[in-house]
Amino acid sequence: MAKVAGVTVDTDHWIGGERVGSAAAFTDLSPIDERPVAEVARGGAAEAEAAVTAAARAFPAWSRTSREERARILHAIADGVDKRLEELAQVETADNGALIRSHRRGVMPRVAHNFRFFADWLLRLGHEDFETRGHRNHVSWDPAGVCALITPWNAPLMLATWKVAPALAAGNTVVLKPAEWSPLTASLLADIAAEAGLPDGVLNVVQGYGEEVGAPLVAHPDVRRISFTGSVPTARSIAAAAAPNLTPLSLELGGKSPLLVFADADLDLAADLAVEQYDNAGQVCLAATRLLVDASVAAEFTERLLDRVGRLVQGDPRDEATDIGPQIHRRHFERVDGFVRRAAAAGARTLAGGGPNTDLGGLYYRPTLFTDVPEGAEILAEEVFGPVLTLQTFTTEEQAVAMANATRYGLAATVATGDPERAARVSGRLVAGTVWVNCFFVRDLRAPFGGSRESGVGREGGDWSFDFYCDLKNTVTAPWEK
Ligand code: NAD
Repeated sequence: MAKVAGVTVDTDHWIGGERVGSAAAFTDLSPIDERPVAEVARGGAAEAEAAVTAAARAFPAWSRTSREERARILHAIADGVDKRLEELAQVETADNGALIRSHRRGVMPRVAHNFRFFADWLLRLGHEDFETRGHRNHVSWDPAGVCALITPWNAPLMLATWKVAPALAAGNTVVLKPAEWSPLTASLLADIAAEAGLPDGVLNVVQGYGEEVGAPLVAHPDVRRISFTGSVPTARSIAAAAAPNLTPLSLELGGKSPLLVFADADLDLAADLAVEQYDNAGQVCLAATRLLVDASVAAEFTERLLDRVGRLVQGDPRDEATDIGPQIHRRHFERVDGFVRRAAAAGARTLAGGGPNTDLGGLYYRPTLFTDVPEGAEILAEEVFGPVLTLQTFTTEEQAVAMANATRYGLAATVATGDPERAARVSGRLVAGTVWVNCFFVRDLRAPFGGSRESGVGREGGDWSFDFYCDLKNTVTAPWEK
């Protein structure tokens, strides 16, 4: 047990409807001041095995519940999230350092929405029967079995529930493994789900390091689906572990997304979109970290952007007035700083930031903007996952599209233009799972979400989530004799 921001959080695993400890523990630090907030059970192969066994045992009964019953319980979980919204917001902010105001107004309401949306979608899920020479084809979405869900630290509960909700709605049972840098809200979710009447073993939460408890989990032959959000190197090891069992995978990975600013764009809007890329202290997979700007408006755009960057308030994420909080962890902070130092050493010109916020100390890193980055520089190719943007210029639309697509990734792209025809032409040619035109981060759970190239495998959202979490079946019935 730990008391975090005044909230009691159970730091054991949640397996088969019981709290289960481990002999070992790991220390969970708060990014706000790098102080310990909790000692958390450090699971391994035995806990992964126990959780998969519990989930497999719970599967037959849960998979046979009616859609209505599952939808009812998911709605009850959403109500439980709403009821504890402030506590969830406080604990998440203490645990991962993201802004309390985002947790209160955006993230935690979205957590509740994840459950309501997939509950309601389940009730509508279906495909019209069709005939083949008088034979009826009936398509059904059958529950697949135990799902292993592995999630990162940058938006812990939102990303976990974006998987948990459709997996449970589909009639599956779940083993959730949250990131070791932000393990706490997953534990609160287990409490909320139990209070909402979710049967024992349907949702299990195992805590610990990826290599210790995540690896045996994804290699388990009784796991029928793996949904992972995280980095490309981890995705490779998970895919390799899944290969012997041919376990279907959904992978939501990193990005190096572009924001294209054309000369006909509303430059104030473009600068607003650009400064948004520092949200969550840059720890956002979708962030458009490469600003690609028409050379003819680059000076004007840069001035407006720097004005906005200068007004960002950096500080304690528990303060409603704060715009930029800390990086998640000392190791991540050093990694971000390494990228910045190497970019500067390679000759990039620093327009803003360029190092730690020495006034605040700790894990606070200044919002950083580079320009005149030499071609081929690491900073243009690698995901930093921190508050670091680069600005490059182009002179033709052709060149803009080529630069936007010159990446191993393909998660998202944002286009700022005043010309609808250009918007259609350019978005059609961008390699990205999501393209935003004159907007950013507008998400609808009916839409497919995922990445192209190294940004991921598969899509989730709406029907696509159910396609992934279910075994689709077509039943063909011959005409009944009269
Ligand atoms: P990570 O890959 O280091 O860890 C993610 C999770 O995988 C953690 O829970 C970790 O414990 C677990 N893990 C690590 N090794 C494992 C193994 N061998 N087997 C099983 N599980 C293992 O990623 P991170 O640093 O937590 O997150 C940052 C990354 O996530 C960035 O690349 C970011 O772009 C990406 N991300 C993508 C999306 C998206 O929707 N596409 C959303 C958020 C974050």
